[in-house]
Amino acid sequence: MADVRLAGLTRRYEDGAALEDFTLDLDDGELVVVVGPSGCGKSTLLRLIAGLDEMSGGQIHIGGRRVDGLAPQDRDVAMVFQSYALYPHMTVRRNVEFPLRMRGVAKAARRGRVEEVATLLEIEALLERKPGALSGGQRQRVALARALVREPALFLLDEPLSNLDARLRTSVRRHIRDVQRRLGVTTLYVTHDQTEAMTLGHRIVVLDRGRTQMVAPPLEAYARPANTFVATFLGSPGMNLLPARRQGGAIAIGDQRIELGDHMPARCADGGALTVGVRPEAFVPSNDTVAVGLRVDADPASAEPLGAETMLTGNVGRETVVIRAAGTPAAETSFVAPREILHFFDAGGRRFSP
Ligand code: ADP
Ligand code: MG
Repeated sequence: MADVRLAGLTRRYEDGAALEDFTLDLDDGELVVVVGPSGCGKSTLLRLIAGLDEMSGGQIHIGGRRVDGLAPQDRDVAMVFQSYALYPHMTVRRNVEFPLRMRGVAKAARRGRVEEVATLLEIEALLERKPGALSGGQRQRVALARALVREPALFLLDEPLSNLDARLRTSVRRHIRDVQRRLGVTTLYVTHDQTEAMTLGHRIVVLDRGRTQMVAPPLEAYARPANTFVATFLGSPGMNLLPARRQGGAIAIGDQRIELGDHMPARCADGGALTVGVRPEAFVPSNDTVAVGLRVDADPASAEPLGAETMLTGNVGRETVVIRAAGTPAAETSFVAPREILHFFDAGGRRFSP
């Protein structure tokens, strides 16, 4: 267990940077999720920290000790990969205790420690089986046990759930969260899945094309995304974005003019372009409200009733807007997103404060 300082981590290739100036401090016992689309540099980040790839620049401190000059086995880091490479000819017990054998830990101590992590990950009943006789979710729990058995200072997880089906993903995700909190091991978890990011971490780091876009607790990133990338990446579906222009105390979007009053972002110059963001769930049927806001007539043919909610689309000017309505609204419904819960971004895609 340790606090971790990552300062300016960079990995360049001839054709560009896979990771650029990645800086983050993790508190002792914290779980941080790094989330971003495929190719954004997530695996590169973990490989640099584990010592499996060479940095072009930056420094890594774990528990006050600088480790970036050290060999992988001297960094006190354990990593779990997407493909959980267990030794097929060894029992689960032998697999889990392998890192302890490598370090010459005595038999009795090994036994106690294996029983401990096996209990945590609920694999006690599987210890004498071989990996071939396990389900995908069980194998992934064994891989987690093997990584945690020697109590690393830092635990790195690279998309550990992506080979599991949806139901198993939920249950293994819960195991990871519970075990991490109980052991208090400082953890960096990377994923392209925004649901994992929202549910697992104390904080998330949103990464795009090798660069950090935002660092915040997940609900804060959802409520106040720092830019249009974060706004569209978090949420399923993500935030709708619409081009708009300021006209005095109002904004023009498509053929609508919305009086913003106090909600006008101060930094936006009169006549200037901005982007308006609206979450699909921000819409309410307009017949039960007199709210000032963005109005959309839903296309009845677009309705996808899902039981608890209905997905619809409608148009604002030439843009299509996704609406997530509670229950099953009548086909001819008009919706409004009140101006209080619209988001505003500048021409560069950065959020206007607040
Ligand atoms: P992620 O794990 O987020 O999907 P990666 O860290 O694997 O992304 O890759 C980040 C970027 O670095 C990608 O654009 C990838 O093509 C590039 N990259 C990775 N390895 C190499 C390499 N050996 N040579 C050149 N580019 C690479
Ligand atoms: Mg990857």
